[in-house]
Amino acid sequence: MTDLHRLSIRELSEGLKKAQFSSRELTEHYLKRIAKIDAKVKSYVTVTAEQALAEADAADAALKAGHAHALAGIPLAHKDIFCTQGIKTTAGSKMLDNFISPYDATVVAKAKAAGLVTLGKVNMDEFAMGSTSESSYFGATGNPWALDHVPGGSSGGSAAAVAADLAPIATGTDTGGSIRQPASFCGITGLKPTYGRVSRFGMIAYASSLDQGGPMARSAEDCAYLMNVIAGHDAKDSTSVDKEVDDYVANLNGTAVKGLRIGIPKQYFNVAGLDADVKARVEESLKKLEEMGATLVEIDLNMTEAYVPTYYLIAPAEASSNLSRYDGVRYGYRCENPKDILDLYKRSRSEGFGAEVQRRILIGTYALSAGYYDAYYVKAQKVRRLIQQDFLKAFENVDVIAAPSAPTTAYKIGANLSPTEMYLGDIYTLAVNLAGLPAINAPVGFDKDSLPVGLQLIGNYWSESQLLSIVHQYQQNTDWHTKRAAIAEENA
Ligand code: GLN
Repeated sequence: MTDLHRLSIRELSEGLKKAQFSSRELTEHYLKRIAKIDAKVKSYVTVTAEQALAEADAADAALKAGHAHALAGIPLAHKDIFCTQGIKTTAGSKMLDNFISPYDATVVAKAKAAGLVTLGKVNMDEFAMGSTSESSYFGATGNPWALDHVPGGSSGGSAAAVAADLAPIATGTDTGGSIRQPASFCGITGLKPTYGRVSRFGMIAYASSLDQGGPMARSAEDCAYLMNVIAGHDAKDSTSVDKEVDDYVANLNGTAVKGLRIGIPKQYFNVAGLDADVKARVEESLKKLEEMGATLVEIDLNMTEAYVPTYYLIAPAEASSNLSRYDGVRYGYRCENPKDILDLYKRSRSEGFGAEVQRRILIGTYALSAGYYDAYYVKAQKVRRLIQQDFLKAFENVDVIAAPSAPTTAYKIGANLSPTEMYLGDIYTLAVNLAGLPAINAPVGFDKDSLPVGLQLIGNYWSESQLLSIVHQYQQNTDWHTKRAAIAEENA
């Protein structure tokens, strides 16, 4: 079969069960595509062909024996921030260029237990800090819709791999938009779950109170399948929540769009820098949801202006603490011939970290230092609470909140935005992490340059099923999620 990469997760699962094709055939099919097409896209940092084929054979055996999990034998790609035993985990950094984790992240372990086949590890901004994936030590990834454009970030490799049909599903992480924004830039679906829904164990920490892993795929239905595997309490992550997990697949038709109240924040649609095409596509998608029976309700989110400064204090503060473990002593990059211990720390860190990571460590260290702590860090924490309350108030009147996922479509590679320009591009995603809420990106059309536009729906706590269900129903009434980039149409 030449078009195995066209099949949805449900179709793949059925095909494998009925032995229409084997996991080995499917895995070889994807590996062939990666060998040919990823030479242009550059979404993978590491391809684990041998291990993938061994996993595929094991899945085939389980399928034959009739005791396989629903997803057994289906390939996936992991963002290179999830620790994988025996396989390099780099976090896109020179610091971890040679790092091999002695254990699997819980997300990886769960995927393995479900019989999913790991194709490899995909590219990302260094330590997940960025919005373009260009800060990766391993170089930029191309956007499958226009290879001279970025796929977004930080989970840019995950989004590009899915959009180019180089993996049917991928894991991503989202600290301030890193699942939703690349999903938006690459025209795929991506879900950022409620903080605590997916274990962070073995997920390399950027800003621990904001980081959350989630699924990236071509449709809400495919995301639901992966959510069923990765969601749940984990004793190894004290911030993961011990709360019953929904059956996200069974619930796909659970929420009726009819009667749904969708909040439209006034402040969001007047943001300077909101691209006219993005605004138009998002408004059209809302119109469609209205036709499907939803009601649009104008709401106020008064704290909008505080999102960027609050996040860019809290996230770097946590990063400066988390990244202090990379000292050149225990693991990771170590400089040549250190004179003494201070020289070892200094040079290992200045040679091992890229510019953006160093910038954030400096900002964070400053914000946490004695004398500035109250003025910056404590104040930001107070504003964070106000941002959360703003959302909770809004959810008294509406079921979900709509926004663009990003104010623009994908930037050109090398556009070299200043840090502040880049940070402002996160305006629509940051508050969701600050409040710990779930949110989803759905592709809703293209701009004048044929680059994808994404709609973001923000839900109340634990509403992942509702968000997936709304987008699933939207996708059954539209075909934006079925559009493929020209490069995805190529055969290996
Ligand atoms: N773009 C944001 C940042 O640079 C978000 C990154 C993320 O979610 N990991 O921090």
